[in-house]
Amino acid sequence: MGNRLAGKTALITGGTSGIGEATVKLFIAEGAKVMIAGRNADKGQALVDELGANAAFIATDVMREADIKRAIEATVEKFGRLDCLFSNAGGVTQGDADTMTADDYHHAMDLLLGSVLFGIRHAAPIMKAQGRGAIINNSSVAALRGHMGGYLYSIAKAGVRRATELAGMELGQYGITVNCISPGAIATPIFFGGSQTALSLDPAHAEAKMRKLTQNLSKATPLFRSGTPHDIATAALFLASDEGAYINSHDLVVDGGMTAGGRTSFEDQRGPAASR
Ligand code: NAP
Repeated sequence: MGNRLAGKTALITGGTSGIGEATVKLFIAEGAKVMIAGRNADKGQALVDELGANAAFIATDVMREADIKRAIEATVEKFGRLDCLFSNAGGVTQGDADTMTADDYHHAMDLLLGSVLFGIRHAAPIMKAQGRGAIINNSSVAALRGHMGGYLYSIAKAGVRRATELAGMELGQYGITVNCISPGAIATPIFFGGSQTALSLDPAHAEAKMRKLTQNLSKATPLFRSGTPHDIATAALFLASDEGAYINSHDLVVDGGMTAGGRTSFEDQRGPAASR
C-alpha cells in the first residue's frame, strides 16, 4: 500500500477484467478513489465489494458516447473531481482488408477509437476547469508494426496513438497531459475473444488455456515471458502520478522489447538460449 495517488480520483474503462482490473486494484492500493466502468455489472459489483468505499462501478458501454459522458459525470459526482481518465476498454475485431464489412468497421472504430476520442472530449472540460488532469489511452504494439491483433484493430489503435499526440498538444496549455500506453503480449481474456467469452468457460479449462497462452506469448518477447496486467498497471500508475507530470503526447511502449525487432513470432518455438 503506497500513496502515489493519494487524493486523486480516476475513471478506468474496462476496469472489470485484465489490464483494467489490475489498474483499478493498483490505483486503489496507491490511495486513489476509482470509478470502474464496464458492461459486466456482476463483476463490477464484486470488485466494489472487494475493494471497499474507494471503489465504485458504473455500467458503461464505451461504444456509446452518452455512456462515456455519464461515467465521467458520475465520477465527479461520487468523488468530487476527475484527476485521471484511463480509456482502456477494448476487445477483438473482425474483418481483413478484403473481407471487412461496414459493420466490422463501425464496431472496431466505435469500440477502440471512438471510446478514446469521446473520453478525451468529455474529460477535457472538467480537467480544464480543475487546471490539471491526466488522460491515458490504451493503444497497442499493433499500432506500431507487424500484423498483430487484426487489420481494423491495428488501424484503430494507430488512431489512438495519433489522437493522443494531438490532444496532448491541444490540452497541455490547460495542465492536462494526454499519453498512451502500447502494451505488448499481455496474457488476458482478450485472447479468448474477450472477458465475456472467458467468463463462460469452465474455470479449470480457462486456467489451462491461460497457462498455454502465457507460454506461447512468452516466446514473442526478448524477455521470454509474457506481460502481466500488472506490468501495464504500473505504467498507468506512473503516468497518472505526479512523477509523470512532465510526460505529454507520449506513447509508452511496454512490451518486453518485442517491437525492437527479432522475436515477433508467436510461433517461434526455440525457447530461451539457457534451455536449448
Ligand atoms: P480483457 O481482459 O478482455 O478486458 C477488456 C475490458 O474491456 C473488459 O473489462 C471489458 O468489460 C471492457 N469492454 C469491452 N468492450 C466494452 C464496451 N463496449 N464497453 C465497455 N467496456 C468494454 O482485455 P485486456 O487485454 O485487459 O484489454 C484491455 C485493453 O488493452 C484493450 O484496449 C486492448 O486492446 C489493450 N491491449 C491488450 C493487449 C494484450 O496483449 N492483452 C495488448 C495491447 C493492447 P466487460 O467485461 O465488463 O464488458
